[in-house]
Amino acid sequence: MHSHGLLIGGKEVPASDGATLLVRDPARDQVIAEVACAGADDVDLAVRSGAEAFDSGVWRDMPPGARARLLNRFADALEDNLEELYKLETANNGRPVRETRAQVSRVPEWYRYNAALLLADRSNVIPISGPYLSYTSRFPLGVVGIISSFNHPLMIGSKSLAPALATGNSVVLKPSELTPLTSFRLAEIALEAGLPAGVLNVVVGLGPVAGQALAAHPGVAKVTFTGGTKAGRAVAMAAAARFAKATIEVGGKTPMIVFDDTPIDDAVAGAMFAGFVAAGQTCIAGTRLLVQDTIHDEFVSRLVERVGGLRLGDPASAGTDVGPVISAAARERVLAYIDGAVKAGAVVAVGGRGARPVEVPGGYFVEPTVLSGVTNDMAVAREEIFGPVQVVLRFSDEEEALRLANDSPFGLGSAVWTRDVARAHRVAGALTHGIVWVNDHHRLDPASPWGGVRDSGTGREGGWESFHDFTEVRAVTIRTAREPVDWFGGREERLN
Ligand code: NDP
Repeated sequence: MHSHGLLIGGKEVPASDGATLLVRDPARDQVIAEVACAGADDVDLAVRSGAEAFDSGVWRDMPPGARARLLNRFADALEDNLEELYKLETANNGRPVRETRAQVSRVPEWYRYNAALLLADRSNVIPISGPYLSYTSRFPLGVVGIISSFNHPLMIGSKSLAPALATGNSVVLKPSELTPLTSFRLAEIALEAGLPAGVLNVVVGLGPVAGQALAAHPGVAKVTFTGGTKAGRAVAMAAAARFAKATIEVGGKTPMIVFDDTPIDDAVAGAMFAGFVAAGQTCIAGTRLLVQDTIHDEFVSRLVERVGGLRLGDPASAGTDVGPVISAAARERVLAYIDGAVKAGAVVAVGGRGARPVEVPGGYFVEPTVLSGVTNDMAVAREEIFGPVQVVLRFSDEEEALRLANDSPFGLGSAVWTRDVARAHRVAGALTHGIVWVNDHHRLDPASPWGGVRDSGTGREGGWESFHDFTEVRAVTIRTAREPVDWFGGREERLN
């Protein structure tokens, strides 16, 4: 059993009121850790610690080459500790270890990529009118608050942490109360690699208390939030009240459009990958399958056959395909959605119930489920279920596919499956989502912008877009004329 305090100013400390939280293994419904539970006072302490480190200049003013070197050293140290991180992350979020390895082994890339941007960044010379040299330069914001979701703590945290650190900011990271363990370890590894104390602080606490206190703290210059749309809205409003920047990465209901020129087995394999990794608990899970009616029935029957063969079990076993959902409440929510869909006229093509795998019977498992006969107005087609549930809808032509795909409160990811290259570009160009894949799904890279529109949030992670959003730009204008300014002496004709 692990135990952990908050990490503030480079030291592990208890919550000021001594409160703690119990952390569970969702595959076994067992307590695996007790961690300090931060209240608003602890968040304040963490923000002050970040501000102190920032103001000292120890990180902010470190020359870019030295800062980049340290981030690369941190990436190396993460790599040295991957085996431990795989085990801890899987024990805490229940994700099959094969998936955890595939995802977490890439986390160091985020630090290396942002270290490279730091070295490659340049400012612009602006051709303004008059005898002036005008250029831009960028400066870090101060303290950045990162509030992350339970599903992929290391990757989600790092998507913001890497550019926030690379640009010279201090950070207060608040991971989910359900999955905080690897975030603590990440911060310890950063300290071991030489990150100055106070530059990265970790506070775990209840979302509406610690998360909200962080989002509303006047000392926090930017908040990045990953989580549900409701909490994301609350965070965005708290940040807006004081004009702090906010990047809000929230829910999705990703459509996967399958045209009938796609080999059916390829589309079925793609749909399973899209929908059932992480037991469907990813923001861009391909949960709305839009299938051309000419191949619909055959597609569903092959999908049902393969989904029925997925192995549920201990996430620590290499042979497990699908793990549990994160909590008993999440399992109840997912089953209630399935129940509601059946009452609304959908058909359970496969799955549909809770499950008790032999080796982990106490876990929060749900059978991978495909619902057919779904229409786009049903709750299961419009709302995020965040579990292993896919719904299948039919379309007859490209126009109808696009109309259905875009008719959603969410606008995060989308996918198009076709062998027709002209159609692939045409449809990709007409989808109103922040991310589009063609003949693939789930692809993520530190260099590529990631984020959504509508109820999926605002702002982008990844690439230059995100890197620069952790800075403010200043415009510097230098007079190059021989004559000095003398407006009241009558020499100047130009006021602005
Ligand atoms: P939640 O919204 O429940 O929680 C996310 C984080 O916000 C947690 O740290 C939580 O703390 C905190 N929080 C909760 N309420 C508040 C509040 N009022 N003010 C401030 N912080 C708060 O989401 P989940 O953890 O359940 O994550 C699942 C969601 O995340 C899904 O909707 C998914 O689509 C989305 N997501 C989006 C991604 C994207 O890139 N767009 C990527 C991954 C997930 P606590 O845990 O203590 O409640």
